[in-house]
Amino acid sequence: MSEDCIFCKIVNGQIPSKKVFENDTNIAFLDIRPISTGHTVVIPKKHYSTIEKLPDEEVGNLFKAVKRVALLLHEKLEIDGYNIVQNNYKAAGQVVEHSHVHIIPRNKGDRKIELNVPKEGASEEQLDQVLEKIMA
Ligand code: AMP
Ligand code: ZN
Repeated sequence: MSEDCIFCKIVNGQIPSKKVFENDTNIAFLDIRPISTGHTVVIPKKHYSTIEKLPDEEVGNLFKAVKRVALLLHEKLEIDGYNIVQNNYKAAGQVVEHSHVHIIPRNKGDRKIELNVPKEGASEEQLDQVLEKIMA
């Protein structure tokens, strides 16, 4: 547990949440600033700052919980789909430093999240350059 962490406080009941799922290792609750109706956050009960810090077993537990909650939302809410989003570090928009996964319900044409994909693709050379760096 981390003292100043808002999600740790939710786990131990110090601050309230609208819980939609709980098991031994994980909880899921409604996001207080939802991108869309039913926007839910799934977290490990233990504090880890980013996905990189989660032991493999915890990654497994987290994504099993994500799948359960995704099925629940899809079944119970009238939605056409959902995005699963996981932000790591400030540059990627992570605000709460207790690793978590967003499930964001979507409906056709809602334009809630749009990936900004450039029209031009990368050249073969650019792809090879980055591949070389990653694989070195
Ligand atoms: P991120 O930008 O990935 O760190 O997302 C953190 C999310 O947590 C945001 O979407 C917030 O709206 C949400 N959030 C922050 N505090 C609470 C809270 N007390 N209960 C529910 N959701 C929260
Ligand atoms: Zn925490």
